[in-house]
Amino acid sequence: MNVRLRGIGMTSPRTRERMVNRLRELGIRHPRVLDAMLNVPRHIFVEDAFASRAYEDNALPIGFGQTISQPYTVARMTELLIEAGPLRRVLEVGTGSGYQTAVLAQQVGKVYSVERIEALQDRAIRSLSDLKLRNIRLKHGDGYLGWHEYGPFDGILVTAAPMRLPEALLNQLAVGGVLVAPVGEAGNQMLHRVTRTEAGYETLPVEPAMFVPLLPGTA
Ligand code: SAH
Repeated sequence: MNVRLRGIGMTSPRTRERMVNRLRELGIRHPRVLDAMLNVPRHIFVEDAFASRAYEDNALPIGFGQTISQPYTVARMTELLIEAGPLRRVLEVGTGSGYQTAVLAQQVGKVYSVERIEALQDRAIRSLSDLKLRNIRLKHGDGYLGWHEYGPFDGILVTAAPMRLPEALLNQLAVGGVLVAPVGEAGNQMLHRVTRTEAGYETLPVEPAMFVPLLPGTA
């Protein structure tokens, strides 16, 4: 692995290890999630000016008014998603920097990820190809509509908050599948976990959350 990917100083594997130790203290337990967070260099997903802060437990700007999710949030959402068992196909709505995509790709068969801002998607494509992850498919589009072609999905992870869970996403969830998404307006959001059963949907509010809004259309 080259020096930029591996990281030095504030972006070194040691710094990443400290981040993972903090996640453990915050209650993240799943060994595969902790491993993935140890493996994926978060600093290549943030702008160079923020690289030295990439392993603090904060959201950071990635341009276009968007943020890379806080490490705790990425870990928690991934844990909620994979707790249900092995997942073959996962839909991610809101690729953003691609960091969550990379973490997911270590845990599941294939990740399908949709982003509405084309310029962000272009950057995510570059970062993800630097990591040579092959089980990822990206699309520029409106995630409110999901990605019908590849559904139903065993897991769906939404990284921006709608006011209500989008119908198309619920429809594209396989029976037995799990959807993890924040819901609600800024300042009053709740992370939800929805399981689809033969009979319908079981919704569990998990914990308060802070995400950018899920917006309609593309940019
Ligand atoms: N997981 C990303 C989070 C980025 S913030 C990361 O850690 O980098 C949320 C992202 O959702 C933003 O990039 C935003 O543009 C995107 N987004 C918002 N509404 C969307 C929609 N309807 N469809 C697809 N992406 C959307």
